[in-house]
Amino acid sequence: KRIEKGQVGHFSESLRLQNIRDHLLSDRLLTAIEKSEMRLVFQPIIKSKTGSIACIEALLRWHLDGEEVSPIEFIPIAEQYGMIKNIGLWVVEKACQQIITLSQNGRALTVSINVSVIQLQDREFVTHIKTLLTRLKFEPSLLHIEITESVFAADKTVLMKQIKALQEMSIKISIDDFGTGYSSLASMQDLGVDIVKIDKSFIDNVNGSGSNIVHAVMQISQSMGYQVVAEGVESLEQVEKLNEIGVHFLQGYYFSKPLEVDQLTDYLNDRLN
Ligand code: C2E
Ligand code: CA
Ligand code: CA
Ligand code: CA
Repeated sequence: KRIEKGQVGHFSESLRLQNIRDHLLSDRLLTAIEKSEMRLVFQPIIKSKTGSIACIEALLRWHLDGEEVSPIEFIPIAEQYGMIKNIGLWVVEKACQQIITLSQNGRALTVSINVSVIQLQDREFVTHIKTLLTRLKFEPSLLHIEITESVFAADKTVLMKQIKALQEMSIKISIDDFGTGYSSLASMQDLGVDIVKIDKSFIDNVNGSGSNIVHAVMQISQSMGYQVVAEGVESLEQVEKLNEIGVHFLQGYYFSKPLEVDQLTDYLNDRLN
């Protein structure tokens, strides 16, 4: 009994501390952009057949009081406290600007951006993107938008409209973390995405039990006309297996960790020469 009581006490105490931290972070999130605490890092997505760069994923970083706060922690807080729309638009703007700068030597780079479902459900989202791309003179076909699989759990009619509107502008849609969430094959077909990103958890054991799943996702995706990305590729063994299965694109530490913008500049220059 006493132990049980102690555990409950401990649990509610850690919950209380978590709430305090969330509040603190939500407060600091309000000014994170104006204080230049946010930045983007960039991870290349590689075309399996040629080894060339197909696309570059922008990932958000928050440097707060000497500490890097993970997006896994602060994105849900930004969603909960109503700050994700502003942060999300900043991400699109910043990513496009930086990719334009990097594209100046004649190469047209494609950038992929993570968008929260809450952002996507906002009816003004598409207009905001359109206005932004026009202002920046950014070619929409060079923009990919990644949405996590949890979109399948949300109200589909709004999402389908939004996805269609983005695709009509030539923006490509990726389903992120595929295989971990609420996906059903029917939803996959209804939503009509362009790219499927198989979650790292399946890629981790693609040289063992995961290979059947990757194979199956690959076949279904191809029959629906989607392209497939393997996420979290860390070893040559995985690369070889994924090539054998025929996965179109590979991403992960084996090729490159997410890079600071000047590291990305060097990375791109090395690959051109
Ligand atoms: P994600 O979109 O699934 O991104 C992949 C995550 O795995 C990234 O973590 C990346 O750094 C990491 N990663 C990539 N390759 C490897 C690998 O080979 N091994 C391992 N162990 N990890 C790898 P990160 O940058 O911490 O981002 C975590 C999540 O936060 C992202 O998962 C995404 O859901 C979210 N996120 C990041 N930036 C944004 C953003 O701008 N907006 C929104 N809404 N969410 C974001
Ligand atoms: Ca992603
Ligand atoms: Ca992912
Ligand atoms: Ca993820």
